[in-house]
Amino acid sequence: MAEQLDQFEIAVAQIKKAAKILNLDAGMVEILTHPKRELTVNFPVRMDDDSVRVFTGYRVQYNYSRGPCKGGVRYHPKVTLNEVRALAAWMTWKTAVVNLPFGGAKGGIIVDPKKLSRNELERLTRRYTSEISIIIGPEKDIPAPDVYTDSQTMAWMMDTYSMIKGYSVPGVVTGKPLSVGGSEGRSDATARGAMYVAKAAAKTAGIDTKKATVAVQGYGNAGSIGARLFHSDLGARVVAVSDSRGGIYLKEGIDLQKLDAHKAKSGSVINFPGSRNISNEELLTLDVDILVPAALENQITEKNASLIKAKMVVEEANGPTTPAADEILFKNGVFLLPDVLANAGGVTVSYFEWVQDIQSFFWSLEEVNQKLQRVMTTAYEGILPISKKENIDMRTAAYVYAVKKVVDAHIARGLWP
Ligand code: GLU
Repeated sequence: MAEQLDQFEIAVAQIKKAAKILNLDAGMVEILTHPKRELTVNFPVRMDDDSVRVFTGYRVQYNYSRGPCKGGVRYHPKVTLNEVRALAAWMTWKTAVVNLPFGGAKGGIIVDPKKLSRNELERLTRRYTSEISIIIGPEKDIPAPDVYTDSQTMAWMMDTYSMIKGYSVPGVVTGKPLSVGGSEGRSDATARGAMYVAKAAAKTAGIDTKKATVAVQGYGNAGSIGARLFHSDLGARVVAVSDSRGGIYLKEGIDLQKLDAHKAKSGSVINFPGSRNISNEELLTLDVDILVPAALENQITEKNASLIKAKMVVEEANGPTTPAADEILFKNGVFLLPDVLANAGGVTVSYFEWVQDIQSFFWSLEEVNQKLQRVMTTAYEGILPISKKENIDMRTAAYVYAVKKVVDAHIARGLWP
């Protein structure tokens, strides 16, 4: 039988696995496996040539038992409602893993942003924001950047929401530019958080980071900054990276500054002078110490999991590993730091940004990074003993840790009416 690759089916299977260990009753499992609220919007956008196109977008609020919903918005041609549901569920566990007073949500638009001009992207973003403005807000649901959205997207969202309200509402989205209430350190936060977790976990994984080699799949925001920080802060050697067009391998280590210049000029990491071009699939199975999937879902599957040679996998992407692959990696002794832990640095600094916006009182970069490291290390140290005690992989342990917090909130609040 072919492996189940529907993201929401995967998300449900992961919850059920944790629910079994936690001995949850059937009613609670029902609650946890259903998204709370889903909005689909079909909306017209005027293109530069004056034609009109209708786009489809989603916002799913998965669970808000622990606080306002939180989660990014992605622009991608392959976005589906089930993918957004899964991503919203993962945000619910992620905010609980790092103990933020948030629930989970996610949004997406079916669009290839690379084919739109900047003006078209702005109109698309503004219209989508107005369409979902009925369910977002600083006390309700706070969007943020995700795949192919960035601080500019967030500035447009903040402005559109504020225009509708008639006053400035910086706390409605996070990941904004500093000039409109963004936080120091937010743009690096996902990668920095992953680096802190990897640092805390290296010993358990039997890795000396100063001698370690790293391969990064996906050279976007999280991946490129992750590569830089694994090198600058942990002393590791980045030997392979990739983007949507393919990858490169250089045994001696890649000069990342030169690579950034090459990518800025050519649009891709491929054909970097001195390196060998490789495929995205090949990158995953390289003989490296640390593998960092930082692209999209379903990259490490039943088909290639047994070929993974890395000692440690650090999931900067959401959902890169399937449940069947999880089992194979665990059996083979690969130490996997799951997305809900490894990439939680982004939403953690998003929380810091929201707190700063609400208080109109802003922190220094040192303060942000110090607090981030504490949050990430605390989460890791909370999850590791569960994994050891129950003899389960780190994802399942993270779920046990997080789902319990959500369940406790449900029980404390009770059922209404
Ligand atoms: N999109 C990021 C994630 O998947 C950040 C979400 C946020 O900051 O709200 O965690």
